[in-house]
Amino acid sequence: MNCPGGILVYKMEPHSYRDLPIRAGEIGLVHRHELSGALNGLMRVRCFHQDDAHIFMMPEQIRDEIKGVVSLFNEVYGLFGLTYHAELSTRPENSMGSDEEWEIATDGLRGALEELGMDYIVNEGDGAFYGPKIDFHLNDALGRTWQCGTIQLDMQMPERFEMEYVGADGEKHRPVMIHRVVYGSIERFIGILIEHFAGAFPTWLAPVQAVVIPVSEAHKEYAHKVLAQLKEAGIRATVDDRNEKMGYRIRENQLQKVPYMLVVGDKEAEAGAVAPRDRKEILKEAMPVEAFIDYIKAEIKERRR
Ligand code: ZN
Repeated sequence: MNCPGGILVYKMEPHSYRDLPIRAGEIGLVHRHELSGALNGLMRVRCFHQDDAHIFMMPEQIRDEIKGVVSLFNEVYGLFGLTYHAELSTRPENSMGSDEEWEIATDGLRGALEELGMDYIVNEGDGAFYGPKIDFHLNDALGRTWQCGTIQLDMQMPERFEMEYVGADGEKHRPVMIHRVVYGSIERFIGILIEHFAGAFPTWLAPVQAVVIPVSEAHKEYAHKVLAQLKEAGIRATVDDRNEKMGYRIRENQLQKVPYMLVVGDKEAEAGAVAPRDRKEILKEAMPVEAFIDYIKAEIKERRR
């Protein structure tokens, strides 16, 4: 877990109530001793990265902080066109902390969801022994759900690590702590995205956005010139100048779901142009390289598809 690191950051110096909330984020490398039979592609691995953050605050700040975190979730998941539902898990039978602490914490989570007008399921008694939580379950294109984001409220670690801040009354108080992840495991989130888009990433997200395909050996040099222009413009591009038939190279890049294949032959080399072909096999007219760059840059900027 990454939590103790976040706590050490907090404890590097004394804090007053005016410093709060303090939000400390990190991409933490974590390990799980999964049984080998439970391992599954990118979905369940023994070593992965968590987009972890720990937020330290006063109890009366819980609701607003949760609202901020949920808005971040909406923004991130919305970007990928992913839908989800939220589940609130409440106090289990064996738990630490007082009734009052649990009430403040649970009300903070519930109040935030309600003020945001979000639907959610309640799992009574399913929270961790140290605090209630909200889980976010993403729906993939195959109708499966994956738990990714969590917001875990924690009243116990601040106690055990003797964290404190000086309140407006000049006295020492314990902060409340949130553990939150948006992606959860970044590796697993990438797995979900691959499934969600069936491998065909939208152009803004594709690892390779365009591949230049010279018709023959004679057009190699021009192909590399086009590649340099694309890279200069910030496009993730490659050249496929392997010693294979052009039809074969086009088919292979289609299978790789590269958004654009740019065929270049005599005509294109003479005119400083490319003949773009997108993976949906809609052929476009040959166009000047600059015109294609403007076109794809607009598509990426607007995250058009
Ligand atoms: Zn944590």
